[in-house]
Amino acid sequence: MSYCIITRDDLKSKSITKELKSKIIDKYDEKKPKYVIAVGGDGTLLRAFHLYPKSIIFGLHTGHLGFYSNYLVKDVDIIAKQINENNYNVEEIDLIDVEFVDGFDNVYHDNALNEVTIIGPTRTLRLDLYIGNKFFERFRGTGFCISTPTGSTAYNKSLNGSVIDPSVKCIQLTEIAAINSNAYRTISSPMILGIDKTIELKADLEHNYNAFVTVDDKPYSLASFKQMKVSSSKNKLKMAYYNRQDFLDRISRTFLNENNWENC
Ligand code: NAP
Repeated sequence: MSYCIITRDDLKSKSITKELKSKIIDKYDEKKPKYVIAVGGDGTLLRAFHLYPKSIIFGLHTGHLGFYSNYLVKDVDIIAKQINENNYNVEEIDLIDVEFVDGFDNVYHDNALNEVTIIGPTRTLRLDLYIGNKFFERFRGTGFCISTPTGSTAYNKSLNGSVIDPSVKCIQLTEIAAINSNAYRTISSPMILGIDKTIELKADLEHNYNAFVTVDDKPYSLASFKQMKVSSSKNKLKMAYYNRQDFLDRISRTFLNENNWENC
C-alpha cells in the first residue's frame, strides 16, 4: 500500500503532516497513492481530490470539523492505525460531470465535488439554458452555480441556494445575479433537479470571450469551448470516515450555534 499527504500551508498543518509521516509505515508515493490524507480544511480536501480523484481520501481538519474532513488533530493515531492496518470505513460521495466540447469537436471531462460555475466577470453573460435537451430560458446576468448536495453548503449557500441533505440524489442550479426586467426574464429561484437531468449551457462566445468556468477551485477559459454540458457523474469520491457526525449537527454547528465549536 502507498499514501501521500496534501498539506495546507500553515504551521499546525505542517506539524501534523510530520507526525503522520512518522507513524505511517506504508510507502510514501506521490504518483499513484492508494490513500491521500488532506491536512488542513475542506479547501485542502478539494485540492487533494483534484490531484488524486481515484484515491481513498482521509480529511484531517486542523481547525474545527469540516463538511468533508471527518478526522480531527486528536485522531492522528487513529488515521495512522487505519492506514497501517488497512482497516477503515469508506463512503462514496456524488460528483458532477462537466463535458466541454472545443472548436475542433474534441470532448473533455472533469468532475466537481462542490460545484461548477460559469461566470462573466465583466460583460453580462448571454446564455441559453437547456435542461434535459429542452430550451428552458435565455439568461442575462453574471452566471450560474451548479452544485452537488455536499457542495450545497459552499458557494451555493452564499447565493441563497438550498442546503441539501447529502442522502438526497440531485443537482442544484442557482443563478448568480440574473437580470430580471421587461426585456429579460429568468426563473429566479434555485432549481433542484433529478440526477437524470443534463444541463446544457450555450454562451455567446463573441460577447463573453473573457468569461470562465470553474470546477471547484479550478478555472477554465470559456472561450476555448463551444459547448458545455453538466450532469451527475458515474464517478464517486471515496472518502474514509470515522465517528461521522450527523449532517444536521454539522449544519447547526457551522451556521447557527457558535457555542458548539468547543464540543467538536
Ligand atoms: P477555500 O478558502 O479553500 O474555501 C473557501 C471556504 O469554503 C473555506 O472556508 C472552506 O472551508 C469552505 N468550504 C469548502 N467546501 C465546503 C463545503 N462543501 N461546505 C461548506 N464549506 C465549504 O477557497 P478555494 O480554494 O477558493 O475553494 C474553492 C471553494 O470555495 C469552491 O468550491 C466554492 O464552493 C467556494 N467559493 C465560495 C464563494 C462564496 O461563497 N462567495 C466564492 C467562490 C468560491 P475550510 O475552512 O474548511 O477549508
